[in-house]
Amino acid sequence: MSTGAEVLDRYVADTYWKALAARAAGAPLGRPDVVVTPRSDEEVADVVRIANQHRVPVVPWGGGSGTQGASIPTHGGIVVDLTRMDRIVDIDEDSLTVTAEAGVNGRRLETELNRKGLMLPHYPASAEFATVGGYVAARGSGVLSTRYGKIEDLVISLRVVTPTGEVVDTLPVPRHAVGPDIAPLFIGSEGSLGVITRVRLQLAPLPAARRFEVVSFPSVEAGVDAVRKSMQSGLRPSVVRLYDEVATRLTLSPVVGSQLPGVATVICFEGNPAVVEAERKSMLDLVRAHNGQVLDGGLGEVWWEHRYDFYKPPHSPELPAVWGTIDVVATYARLLHTYHALQEAVAKPYAARGLKLRSHLSHWYPWGAMIYARFVLPDGGPDSVTLHDRIWKDGVTAALGAGAVINDHHGVGLKLAPYMPAQHGAGLDVLRRIKNALDPNGVMNPGKLGL
Ligand SMILES: Cc1cc2nc3c(=O)[nH]c(=O)nc-3n(C[C@H](O)[C@H](O)[C@H](O)COP(=O)(O)OP(=O)(O)OC[C@H]3O[C@@H](n4cnc5c(N)ncnc54)[C@H](O)[C@@H]3O)c2cc1C
Repeated sequence: MSTGAEVLDRYVADTYWKALAARAAGAPLGRPDVVVTPRSDEEVADVVRIANQHRVPVVPWGGGSGTQGASIPTHGGIVVDLTRMDRIVDIDEDSLTVTAEAGVNGRRLETELNRKGLMLPHYPASAEFATVGGYVAARGSGVLSTRYGKIEDLVISLRVVTPTGEVVDTLPVPRHAVGPDIAPLFIGSEGSLGVITRVRLQLAPLPAARRFEVVSFPSVEAGVDAVRKSMQSGLRPSVVRLYDEVATRLTLSPVVGSQLPGVATVICFEGNPAVVEAERKSMLDLVRAHNGQVLDGGLGEVWWEHRYDFYKPPHSPELPAVWGTIDVVATYARLLHTYHALQEAVAKPYAARGLKLRSHLSHWYPWGAMIYARFVLPDGGPDSVTLHDRIWKDGVTAALGAGAVINDHHGVGLKLAPYMPAQHGAGLDVLRRIKNALDPNGVMNPGKLGL
């Protein structure tokens, strides 16, 4: 454990814009009183039990890569940094699962698995910083999700230390009929219902073939229609990243080093080579039927090699810019409506101040998809925090009004907490009652998730 000022200062901000701005201004949004770095379930349980007895807040901390302010100790107390719980406990090559302690780093896990010809098919752009516990606690998604699913589709079982200090293992399989399953309760719980200390996740073999295509559609509408029909006809591309015109120009083209036209879309199929060929051909037929133009597929490989560059300098914004990602998810019936509502609420009103809204659609399902609408304002000036909050309020209100769900994979944290009543309605009270039952003294990550 540590109470040293230098150590405590490392836990005042995740990657939430407001946290970074507050830290830069010398007035962080929160600071722990103590940081502990346990090595075992028992040590975590001891810390949580003592904290609960003394009514001291406990905030789990994984890689601190979250974008929502979820791991900031706004009420002080104890930060439980899990990164020393970093054992890969078991790789079961029959069941294709990995059991790992919560603090295992995403990239390290991937390297170990790749050596055995395996992969965790959850590839968030933050893999080099995030932990597997954080993947689950923030309910994330990776670039291959259209084929393999979100993290909740990959969780087999969890070990959790409850807010009163019990160590609970969820059932060893995720499909059964022995009553309600408690594992899903902790997926996306953002440290507010307990500390995840161990996860068992589904793996996949490294694909025998991975084949990229890059196509361009005349409009977002044409592209969405083609992808919807592909998904609903049973095709399972691993990647479909459909960039609107602005994102094609400002986001995709600079990273792949080629000025692409229209609504450029990176598509990938992977797995058995014969199936890949058949699926690729079927999807390209649908693309052409929607007036899509097939471009140089080699650029898809360039995209894959540089897929993390989007989030690093010179492509990522830095203070004094104001930025944020409104990643929303909607059924196809509401999807384009939501896309246009965000244009009306965010892109147009703030254009005069220099804001650019770059949107891409990825994480596709047979029923709908995610819109990743990233806004960047070069300099918010002296009222940048007010401006930031107003842009978020306008964007989220528009998305809710269009019938979307206000977050797909980044979580809630502090950022979206004010919108949880509007999002969940009476359901939020159900969540509150669950929270109160598990955490009667309200010690676990207070102030987050709108609870
Ligand atoms: C450049 C960049 C790119 C990103 N790209 C993606 C992406 O592609 N997909 C995606 O899903 N996300 C992405 N993110 C967001 C973030 O990386 C993910 O949410 C990630 O899963 C967080 O993991 P972490 O270990 O850093 O968690 P933290 O940020 O440390 O914590 C996040 C939340 O989970 C809680 N928590 C952490 N560990 C535990 C635990 N063991 N038990 C209980 N609660 C815990 C914390 O209290 C907090 O509430 C990105 C972030 C950045 C900065």
